[in-house]
Amino acid sequence: MLSSFSSIYNSPADMSTAKKRALVTGITGQDGYYLSKLLNEKGYEVFGFTGDLGDENAITRAVEESKPDEVYNLGGISDLGSAIKDPERTMKINYEAVIKLLNQSKKTNPKVRFCQASSAEIFSRENPAPQDESAVYGPTNPYGVAKLKAQQEIKRQREEAGVFGCSAILYNHESPKRSEKFVTRKITMTLAKIKLGLAQTLELGNLSAKRDWGFAGDYVEAMWQMLQAPTADDYIVATGAAHTVRDFVNTAAKCLDMELIWEGEGESEIAKNKSGRVIVRVNPEFYRPLEQNDIIGNNAKAKKILGWKPRTSFEDLVRLMIEKDLEYVKTLQQ
Ligand code: GDP
Repeated sequence: MLSSFSSIYNSPADMSTAKKRALVTGITGQDGYYLSKLLNEKGYEVFGFTGDLGDENAITRAVEESKPDEVYNLGGISDLGSAIKDPERTMKINYEAVIKLLNQSKKTNPKVRFCQASSAEIFSRENPAPQDESAVYGPTNPYGVAKLKAQQEIKRQREEAGVFGCSAILYNHESPKRSEKFVTRKITMTLAKIKLGLAQTLELGNLSAKRDWGFAGDYVEAMWQMLQAPTADDYIVATGAAHTVRDFVNTAAKCLDMELIWEGEGESEIAKNKSGRVIVRVNPEFYRPLEQNDIIGNNAKAKKILGWKPRTSFEDLVRLMIEKDLEYVKTLQQ
């Protein structure tokens, strides 16, 4: 079924020289967008798997057809809500399909290099921040459980069979392509709407939750660099800097020249603008039943071994997202 599988970017460069071939799952998602752009710039022939990762035959066909030198597995169930609702499917897509993809890739090309998008969700809540690669495992939801199993199997094959398989343990990474299910995009989109008179207030859950937010465009570079290294390994991909949800709101408001004055605490905390209108309020509906410890990653290993570092500052990331959302909201006004 070739329809589920297409070569989406073919650079016009000389086809006679052997171009590297990359197969990317999840190519229609945020990370797929930035990674395929990067690989295209580097002259790769990029194949995007857009089919159902639960379909074993589709995986086999995609690998056989693309004959990849490098495989990036970015696909799967990506938000916790969906994973919690369907643990069985999460295990099938976020674990079993990964191993099928890896095994098929090895079969087609024994020298294949494989990068798995893993997650900070594999770690226990008890780890103090920042976490490094030796942090204690202990996922608390089906998403984290499946990601951990996939990462451990890739590691096992690396150590026992010399497979070039890496896991990128990704911390929160955002961009204008982020879904509004995530707090960053919800903030930038809603504040842009408030600025242009299309929304009244921004309602949030825990304003003091801290996250290590990086730019997705920087994180896909780390994934690419992992596959160019002499040996395969697992790496934390994070900025190491933490910000609260409140910090994110303030930074976004500043980009919009909106001054926010905060008052109250807990469920009664609000932020008003200069004319006293309430712009931000807490709605306990958005509280998490179990809030993680601060999720902050130590990127020292990726810096040392890969020479990777995040290039985009927190302020630049927020500005990038606000600017895109302002542009978008303006189109809604017309
Ligand atoms: P996560 O780290 O993958 O859960 O990414 P999210 O962007 O969904 O959430 C990041 C943090 O923002 C969590 O600690 C949430 O509790 C907090 N948060 C506060 N208000 C909201 C909200 O309205 N929506 C979401 N999604 N998260 C919120």
